[in-house]
This record gives sequence, structure tokens and C-alpha cells, in this order.
Amino acid sequence: MVIVDKEFGEVIVRKNAWVRNIRFSVSTSGRLAMSVPKYTSEFLAKRFLNANRKMIREKLPVKDPAEQRARDYQKKQLMKKAREYLPYRLEYFARLHGYKYDNFRLSHANTRWGSCTHRKRTGGNTDEITISLNIGLMNVPETLRDYVILHELAHINHPDHSKDFWAEVGKHDHNYKLHERRLKGFSPGV
Ligand SMILES: [Zn+2]
Repeated sequence: MVIVDKEFGEVIVRKNAWVRNIRFSVSTSGRLAMSVPKYTSEFLAKRFLNANRKMIREKLPVKDPAEQRARDYQKKQLMKKAREYLPYRLEYFARLHGYKYDNFRLSHANTRWGSCTHRKRTGGNTDEITISLNIGLMNVPETLRDYVILHELAHINHPDHSKDFWAEVGKHDHNYKLHERRLKGFSPGV
């Protein structure tokens, strides 16, 4: 659970059966985190936060909340841009090259630009295909963004990085080698 606080920005609330008392710490992202007993309500968590405001301010090196808020805002904007663009671009290329998939997801993982997962359907003989694209793609040049989309679409027919897979990518993007290399200069983390 994440609660948004006027002073501290996004506060990560971790529920844990083993925690008896509420504990505050700083997460790796610089956000304030609190560990609470499993059945703590959001209302109660906010009350504890309020009660400990002074202690947190003095003892915990939470990153400048204004900076954190700016980052949260940027991420939200990027999410919005991605939602209005990526599913349509994906659909465009899927139609152009005759690919079919079942689900689309936006992701914000720090390590991958996209994924294409195959799941066996119960009773059917076709897989359920889910394509995920990272919202960070909105920050890279269009040619690289398109390359990632074509790469994931090619995974529908080849769930590996075999020769056949790359041959299929190459059919749709003649410069795929260059694009793959240039993409390494960017990071998907937002
Ligand atoms: Zn791949």
C-alpha cells in the first residue's frame, strides 16, 4: 500500500504479520517506508504517520519531498503519455505485420523494455499472449521505441532469441542490430 502525504510524498506501507509495532525507515528509492502489523488500516497508518511527523523529520534522511514529488509527477505524466501512445503503436505494427496477441500491459520495471509472455490456455491449443511495454520507452527516440515493439511482436512466433527470431525481427526492422546496440545507451528505469 502507498499513501500520499503532504509533507513526505509517497509513503510505502509494508504489511507484515511479524511486526508488532509500527517502524519507520527509508526505502532504497529515498521514500519513507513504514512497516505495520498485517491488519493495519490506511486510516490507522495515516494516524501513526501524523503522530510521528516530528521524529521522522529529525531522524530520517528522507529525500527532499519536493524533489520526490517532482519525480512522482514526472512518472505520472510519463504513464499518461505511454497509455495514450504505446497500445496504439503496438496495435498498428501488429496489424501491419499480421500478429495477434491477447493482452497488453504497461510496465515500469527498471531492467527491461518489454516482454512477451506465452501462457498455455486450459483446453485450447493456442497460447495466451501478453505483451508488456515499459513506460520509459516514451523517453527514447521513436526508431528505438518501434524496434522494441517489433522485437516483442516477433516473440509471438519465437519465444527465444534464436536465429529464426532475429531473422523475423530483421524482416520488419532492417537496422535492428544498430537499434539493439543504441538501446543499451538508455535505461528503462524512470
Ligand atoms: Zn527478446
